[in-house]
Amino acid sequence: MKNIYDLSITEIETFIEEIGEASFRSKQIWEGLYQLQNSDWNNFSSLPKFIREKLEKEYSLTSLKKIESVFSNDLQTEKVLFQLEDSNYIESVLLRKDDRLTLCISSQSGCAVGCVFCATGDLGFKRNLTSGEMIEQVIFFINALKPGNEKLTNIVFMGMGEPFLNYENTIAAVERLNDASSLNIGARRITISTIGILERIKEFAEKELQINLSISLHAPNDLLRQQLVPLSRKYPIKELIDACRFYIAKTNRRITFEYVMIKGVNDSPKLATELVTLLRRLNCHINLIPLNRTLHFSGKPSDPSTLREFGRILIEKGIAASIRDSQGSEIQAGCGQLAGKRNGI
Ligand code: SAH
Ligand code: SF4
Repeated sequence: MKNIYDLSITEIETFIEEIGEASFRSKQIWEGLYQLQNSDWNNFSSLPKFIREKLEKEYSLTSLKKIESVFSNDLQTEKVLFQLEDSNYIESVLLRKDDRLTLCISSQSGCAVGCVFCATGDLGFKRNLTSGEMIEQVIFFINALKPGNEKLTNIVFMGMGEPFLNYENTIAAVERLNDASSLNIGARRITISTIGILERIKEFAEKELQINLSISLHAPNDLLRQQLVPLSRKYPIKELIDACRFYIAKTNRRITFEYVMIKGVNDSPKLATELVTLLRRLNCHINLIPLNRTLHFSGKPSDPSTLREFGRILIEKGIAASIRDSQGSEIQAGCGQLAGKRNGI
């Protein structure tokens, strides 16, 4: 069945035109979807019954099936496993911190990049999500939070998959999250995390949006990065940093680099100094993330003292850095663990 959340307002207008109805009906459908987040066609009470029936015959409102939900020990992180209509799996993670409610969504089922420390990488690539499947993850949580009168504050594309290898659908989803007549989530509250697909960073920069961009770097040189992020063979670090420079020049925004800290692999003071040289004079911030253990990777998270020393070297040399706490690490927040289990991995 077709997913209504894959449609733009223009496509809904075409549908309404084709069934010979007045154009204001498309606005009513749009409001029911994005302002009221209706999960049943019967709740579109402003529409006559026969339009509702036509819609129901052709379009699904809820293509995602919730399979299971796991909470962290402190209950501040919830990870939900969904099954897609074709039986593939994806995960979304809700993180509560202070007054923030951040939803981490998936852009693909599985991932082709193959980062050695990532459970999604272990799964391999299954398929791209449609923009509607990305939007639906958000709608699901908006509805789940309604009884407690809570609202999502931030959306991050840091779940399963590489968003810039599914660029068009990701951008379509971002536009609908951001659009005032849709979900109206501020651009500065949306973050895309990418391994650094060069052409896409440039294309994204040209859009001059205010969306936050995170680059998953993990190493300051090609040799080490290629061991950790196999697909980075196609994207040399020097060209990646040039693309970042272009992005900053175009958008005037700071870039965040994510650096997963793995004991004895990428956490030495020498590598910290190399990172300083690489990122000198770049408007950026580095997030040091202690590795979450996964089933198929023998690496361990860096010791707290090593993490602090690494961060100290960066800060001392004028590079903004922070250590991200490992919220929800016991449920492998955002890293494909649940889907892995289902696929027998
Ligand atoms: N594919 C994109 C977005 C999804 S991954 C990307 O890689 O940027 C989101 C983040 O989770 C990335 O920064 C990734 O490095 C991190 N991550 C993946 N597996 C992890 C693990 N085992 N421990 C800590 N962070 C991990
Ligand atoms: Fe893909 Fe990101 Fe996982 Fe790497 S870290 S395998 S790019 S999802």
